[in-house]
Amino acid sequence: MVRLSPAILLACAYTQADAKKQSADVIVVGAGYSGIAAARELHRSGLSTIVLEGRNYVGGRTATKEFHGINFDYGGAYMQGGTDNPLQALSSDYGFTPAKIDWVTAAWDFDFNQFPSSGSESYDNVAYKPYNTAYGNARRQLGRSLYEAFEEGKNWDGVDKKRFNSTLAYDVESGYGGPAYSMDSSSYREYYCGFRWRYDTYYPEGGFGHMVETIAAQEALDIQLNTAVTEVADNGDSVTVTTENGDVYTASNVVVTATLGNLKAGDILFTPQLNNDKKIAIDRIEMATCNKVFMAFDEENFAGSPWAQQGLEYFNNESPFDEAPFYFYNRQIHPFSGGSPIIESWWCSNLEMEYNNGVSLQRHLDVLRNIYPELSDPIDVDYTDWNQNRFSRGSYSYPGVGSPITDYDNLAKPQGNIHFAGEHTTRSFSSVNGAWLSGLDAADEILRGRTTTPRPGSWKSAEDGLQEEGGRGKPPVHRPRGL
Ligand SMILES: Cc1cc2nc3c(=O)[nH]c(=O)nc-3n(C[C@H](O)[C@H](O)[C@H](O)COP(=O)(O)OP(=O)(O)OC[C@H]3O[C@@H](n4cnc5c(N)ncnc54)[C@H](O)[C@@H]3O)c2cc1C
Repeated sequence: MVRLSPAILLACAYTQADAKKQSADVIVVGAGYSGIAAARELHRSGLSTIVLEGRNYVGGRTATKEFHGINFDYGGAYMQGGTDNPLQALSSDYGFTPAKIDWVTAAWDFDFNQFPSSGSESYDNVAYKPYNTAYGNARRQLGRSLYEAFEEGKNWDGVDKKRFNSTLAYDVESGYGGPAYSMDSSSYREYYCGFRWRYDTYYPEGGFGHMVETIAAQEALDIQLNTAVTEVADNGDSVTVTTENGDVYTASNVVVTATLGNLKAGDILFTPQLNNDKKIAIDRIEMATCNKVFMAFDEENFAGSPWAQQGLEYFNNESPFDEAPFYFYNRQIHPFSGGSPIIESWWCSNLEMEYNNGVSLQRHLDVLRNIYPELSDPIDVDYTDWNQNRFSRGSYSYPGVGSPITDYDNLAKPQGNIHFAGEHTTRSFSSVNGAWLSGLDAADEILRGRTTTPRPGSWKSAEDGLQEEGGRGKPPVHRPRGL
């Protein structure tokens, strides 16, 4: 297993303050996967490139951090798409071997009775079968929410709506990170990170966050941390980039990878202002609200839990979106965790944003104690704050009601000497693979004047998909998504 110290990598690689340069061929705003991909290609092609990053680390929405002595990915963690995911080859190139996940799972019902793992009373049969029928009948159309598309399908005979809502929460809302009534039904597809569910899930051994730090260090990129950009101005033959502390940088081109949340909040002032197509897209695409909670427990107490006794890698309980946490990983099983008694919760919810950490923890413990009443208080807890953090303002994007998939293409297009990359600029949105490819594409625009619309990725156009499928979505295949 690769375990690299980010501190060592940072110390040896990035520009020291006294050597700070303020002009280059290209300035890249943001050192997440998209920014590092762009900078790597530009730098390799001989263009001088400076990356300005507001945070004090490289990786953005991927961050491998230590919790209770173990490395965890606090943001992006998994590679979907099996060997089709371009990150598989990338991770091998940098020594982060892709490791496949073998899921051992179980589900509990609304009354916290465990579903049998097979037979007519299993979760798949009781919850998924009726859900899949409704899904197949859904009337999907631009401007109609996914929830309304189900309602329009009007095939509710024998379908328990409460159970349906909870299966929807589990199957779609927890992955997309928003309620189904806020998602556009035509742009939503049964894809995840641009790949169909049927693919296997892998993770880069050593962590996504450590991987991007390693790429930046090995490629000797010029990255200036703690440097928040406030203004980007295209002067026709050059660009100026101004930072929070008043420094002004000049370049021929700039690649902006600040998040959709940042664009929505107007964190960067663009001159000239962003064109109308971009403004509309920024408004229509939604930013999801997903966070992780890590809880370490007493080993002996943990050993008596059903998840430990049954060797479950992850488990869920029935609960409609926004009501309670329902998606848990037993990290004692996960190869990263080295056997530590840790539960990681994945919770996407509008309400989650309103909770302080104490309330969030109590809600998690309430659910877990319904499954295992003897559960002790955790001995260590940590929380992510992707929604509150000013450099992300959310977890990732999804198409809001009325947002055609071409909104993503509009965010990808360059405007003069200002280029754009990031997960919100590709049809493989919400993914690390999408972010990486978008950065390569932005570099290509600058190096060869080539633009690819839609941005490369494994996601076919939603319109193509709908035509292919006779105007309807195919029922999803129930798989843990491994976010
Ligand atoms: C909890 C969570 C779980 C996820 N799970 C998965 C998963 O399992 N698999 C998967 O493929 N994807 C997953 N994703 C999505 C994936 O992590 C993101 O799509 C991807 O990392 C985005 O990369 P990016 O380069 O577009 O953006 P970012 O990584 O956000 O990079 C943008 C950078 O710009 C910086 N920045 C912002 N504003 C400024 C400014 N004004 N000045 C300077 N710098 C600025 C930010 O600090 C950041 O470093 C997950 C995301 C989250 C939050």
